[in-house]
Amino acid sequence: MRLCSSCLRQFVRCYSVNALTPAVQQPLNFVNGHRVNPESAKKSQEFDLLSPATGEILRHVPSTGSHDLDKTIDSAREAFPGWRRLPGFERGQVLKKAADILRRRLEEVARVEVLDTGKPIWEARFDIAACADSIEYYGGLAANISGNFSQVANGSFAYTIREPYGVVGGIGAWNYPLQMASWKSAPALACGNTIVFKPSPLTPLTAVMLGEVYKEAGLLDGCYSVVQGHTETGQLLSNHSNIAKMSFTGSVETGSRIMASCAKDIKKVTLELGGKSPLIIFGDCDIDNAVKGAMLANFLTQGQVCSNGTRVFVEKKIVRQFLEKLVTKTRNMKIGDPNDEKTTIGATISREQAEKTLGYVDIARKEGATVLCGGERVSMEPPLSGGYYLSPCILTDCTDNMTVVREEIFGCVMSVMTFDTEEEVIKRANDTHFGLAGGVFTKDLQRAHRVASELEAGSLYINNYNVYPVGVPFGGFKMSGIGRENGPETLDYYSQIKSVYVEMGDVDAPF
Ligand code: NAD
Repeated sequence: MRLCSSCLRQFVRCYSVNALTPAVQQPLNFVNGHRVNPESAKKSQEFDLLSPATGEILRHVPSTGSHDLDKTIDSAREAFPGWRRLPGFERGQVLKKAADILRRRLEEVARVEVLDTGKPIWEARFDIAACADSIEYYGGLAANISGNFSQVANGSFAYTIREPYGVVGGIGAWNYPLQMASWKSAPALACGNTIVFKPSPLTPLTAVMLGEVYKEAGLLDGCYSVVQGHTETGQLLSNHSNIAKMSFTGSVETGSRIMASCAKDIKKVTLELGGKSPLIIFGDCDIDNAVKGAMLANFLTQGQVCSNGTRVFVEKKIVRQFLEKLVTKTRNMKIGDPNDEKTTIGATISREQAEKTLGYVDIARKEGATVLCGGERVSMEPPLSGGYYLSPCILTDCTDNMTVVREEIFGCVMSVMTFDTEEEVIKRANDTHFGLAGGVFTKDLQRAHRVASELEAGSLYINNYNVYPVGVPFGGFKMSGIGRENGPETLDYYSQIKSVYVEMGDVDAPF
């Protein structure tokens, strides 16, 4: 979306949101088509919602306990038969309408996403537009969800039906809150499931707005619900016997726990987990593009991106030139108010995450890495002084066994290593239990595809990084996950195949 400067100023006036915004003050559970507070929430179970940009407490959010969760899942179960019986085309129409409504509300939702996450407004606008695209995409696929036909002997035949599971449980992380709600709900609903989604307690606001969008688009009440809460609510959801499938985005540790809790009921799971992805930069690359690629691979959303290429391997012969350009551009990034159009690095999500990130920089120093730039808290004037603003950090003299090179930091810290040969760098790049993404910069076409095929990861980028066009599946190899989101394959993860055999002759039996 392009706005002229006067429209933009007007938008900023209208939509600079804060604790007084209805999206913050209204109830944050969405059940049976309405915003509601959990009936049985105890004061002691409320949690604080903080603005990452300012550190102010925006409100207290009641947690959802088992009584309210049961009621929510009951409403999703009641809605299921009516929704699944609709032809795919009609389900798709609702989703496509929802995409249009979300586009209409884009600026408002983006401002709320900024309030929740602290990410720069231009990124939030981009995210919300991409969510609308995703919802529209699955709206388009819904009409085509179909089975197969097999001719068997003597005129008999079999056909398959692709059926929904029932009530899907979704749990999200905090870096792309609306994207997680959309990437899970759109394919789930397209296939005829209903869904109960729990956002991260750090970012509860926009998933509820998506509920309003779906309702306005004509989605039946109960088909999309939101419950707020911490670990306990997540555990109740993933353990619930009336949840047929879980779709989770978050850390490997939590994903593993959720998978274990789903095992007892043989619940299906989709897991979108963490990463420590390699980005390989060969000497024959376009160096300016490689520098921009490395920054995209590390500094979007304050470095809090699962697919980030945080292990940057640079061929020795160009490392000095690469680092000079990279450091200059990184130092020019504007750190500050996420609602300022010029800001490129906003606020880190929380004090804990900021301290964790700075802690990793300290560990890196102790283990022998050199801090080329950044890796510090940047002080801001009021009202931003309570937020956690970190300068993007570039580490060199890193080795493969350093803590920062092995562990996911989930903050704006890039580790740069050098290499000599293709064979060597592929081996080093694959030496991790993660497998979410990877990238390669080179002008050698054959090498680019060879490296992409050798890297053990679910999403590979050649001469770019961290782009997610709708329709391209996203998900991890190894411990980075199970299943795919954002592509046509996702429908396989929200539906099950029923085979129907039809006998056209007499029964041939030895009895
Ligand atoms: P997290 O695992 O701490 O929490 C994720 C969600 O799980 C939250 O909603 C939380 O309340 C809930 N939760 C926590 N414990 C639970 C339990 N025992 N049972 C059920 N639910 C539980 O992750 P986070 O800190 O919110 O997010 C950061 C992590 O998410 C990083 O590792 C990042 O790589 C990963 N991530 C992955 C993707 C992807 O698509 N692969 C996308 C974004 C983030």
